[in-house]
Amino acid sequence: ASFDEAGLDSIVLENIKRMEYTEPTPIQRNALPILMQNYDLMACAQTGSGKTAAFLVPTISKLTTKIFKGQLSTVRRRPGLIFKGTPLVLIILPTRELAIQIFEEARRFTYKTPLRPVVIYGGAESRVQKEQIMKGCDILIATPGRLKDMVERGVVSLARVRVAILDEADRMLDMGFEPQIRQIMMSSDLARDEGRQTLMFSATFPRDIQTLAREFLKEDFCRLR
Ligand code: AMP
Repeated sequence: ASFDEAGLDSIVLENIKRMEYTEPTPIQRNALPILMQNYDLMACAQTGSGKTAAFLVPTISKLTTKIFKGQLSTVRRRPGLIFKGTPLVLIILPTRELAIQIFEEARRFTYKTPLRPVVIYGGAESRVQKEQIMKGCDILIATPGRLKDMVERGVVSLARVRVAILDEADRMLDMGFEPQIRQIMMSSDLARDEGRQTLMFSATFPRDIQTLAREFLKEDFCRLR
């Protein structure tokens, strides 16, 4: 199907046009209907395949539609009240470079929608990142260590997460992030929860990735190779 036929929100469709994505790439064409129907997904995807838009477009579109129908609300800080960032979408990825790249793409796809993306990563001061979260954080793009830190410090709550995405999962395991990822997914009940959707993207399929997929994804999850 084309972007026009995928049942996407009109603002998101306009943003896709503005970015001059005329035809969906194969991973986008295959993932769109699966994700619009809320299935969990394990997808084999290389950098350059268009995998970012494959998970951002349907996710941002579904949430925007829900917000406009009054079925979901965003949370913004009000003066004087204790505030935690309560993202609706959590994207966990291995590196700062990838985090910034996905954040930029998320900004373009959320243009004129009520959704506000925020990026956090290690090796940089947390104060500025915390200030960004405090302005409201609907889509949180994060590296595992910094995310765990922000959750433990009570800056971020994962209680409202509707969609959790693990991007470049094989690289995260190679970098030794498995304990952090497991803890984040398990302590916040993100894995195999009926009310939420979990997506995994990986360039390769070693045994440890398959094990994680079985742990994190619902039994009827879809596979794209
Ligand atoms: P990714 O694999 O997500 O890192 O995307 C690789 C590059 O392809 C990025 O620079 C995207 O902006 C671009 N891209 C993704 N989807 C499309 C599309 N449907 N049409 C044209 N360019 C695209």
